[in-house]
Amino acid sequence: MQTQAVGTLRQLIETASDIVVLTGAGMSTESGIPDFRSDNGAWQDETLAEAMSDTYLHEQPHAFWQKFKQVFLREEFLSARPNPGHLALAALEAMGKRVRVFTQNVDGLHQQAGSSYVVELHGSIRRAVCPMCQQRYGLADMLAEPVPTCHWTNVKGAECGFVLHPDTVLFGQPVRQLSEAVLAAAHCDLFLVLGTSLLVDPVAELPNYALAAGHPVAVVNLEDTYIDGRAAAVVRGKIGEVLPLVVAGEG
Ligand code: NAD
Repeated sequence: MQTQAVGTLRQLIETASDIVVLTGAGMSTESGIPDFRSDNGAWQDETLAEAMSDTYLHEQPHAFWQKFKQVFLREEFLSARPNPGHLALAALEAMGKRVRVFTQNVDGLHQQAGSSYVVELHGSIRRAVCPMCQQRYGLADMLAEPVPTCHWTNVKGAECGFVLHPDTVLFGQPVRQLSEAVLAAAHCDLFLVLGTSLLVDPVAELPNYALAAGHPVAVVNLEDTYIDGRAAAVVRGKIGEVLPLVVAGEG
């Protein structure tokens, strides 16, 4: 591991009392959920990627759900547990720091680890909603039938019956709570980028708001990102190995 970069990261975290964290799929690979852009990732199958759009959901709801389940409701996602990286972020909060997590992940692992301020920019695979009556459903309902539909009944006993929408941001839909993320980036002591390739706008722009406001940005990622050249610390390593070290004051 790069001792100097890890040391700088530890100092940045130690001196910051208000930390904003942006996480991506790399945060959860050590929990057994692969990221999608790597060699064997789900996005290598272009038909799967294209199917994860709101247009496809509207045009072919049955085929959409079959593919959505193939991508997101498979065993790796459903059985995943928080890894030492998730737990280290929760530990930072328990130490009295303000830690606001903005995640592109849809797996719910930050909340499971105990982080209390988690904004799911891409929604969650654990919830679904009826587009007609707005009735909300959980994971068990989504798994109970191949194409989950709304079972809400009106006073006459008629069932709503609409095909549910996953509470996940699909291609063609806007990222959630982006303005909250921009504000947070502009008002923090440290902006920490964890496990994201920073390839997709508008989320990729968030570190720029921190830099523009004069706050340091630190990156832990296995590969280069466009912001590395302007970051106060760049650690090329596994989040689950690096974060527990720096949070424990080691490294
Ligand atoms: P991405 O573009 O955020 O890339 C992941 C990055 O993490 C890569 O640069 C990779 O080098 C790095 N990385 C992987 N493992 C790491 C580790 N242990 N430590 C440090 N860095 C690591 O992610 P993507 O796969 O292109 O996913 C795009 C979108 O798909 C996500 O934003 C999300 O909406 C969805 N997705 C979610 C999950 C999840 O919820 N866990 C998983 C895959 C994809």
